[in-house]
Amino acid sequence: MVAIGVLLMSGMENMIARLHHAFRWDCDVCGRENFERAICMEKEYIESKIEGEVDKDGEYVLYPALVSCKHCSAQFLATFQDLTDLEEEDE
Ligand SMILES: [Zn+2]
Repeated sequence: MVAIGVLLMSGMENMIARLHHAFRWDCDVCGRENFERAICMEKEYIESKIEGEVDKDGEYVLYPALVSCKHCSAQFLATFQDLTDLEEEDE
């Protein structure tokens, strides 16, 4: 995962918001947007759980198995859809 910061305004150097990886999802009940914070994994920990090495340049994050809408409290099982999956849906 690569992140690029934009819009650096002068005089705001002391006002820093720490951004974290997150997963965005839309609630199928109320239609509103939700975010779940991603849990970053150390490569050494992952390699201790699997056989072999992981991609040195990759970042590894976990998402929750169950999510709950912050607005209407509906619960859903979670699955991950990355950009590759979205491109295949468009074809
Ligand atoms: Zn909802």
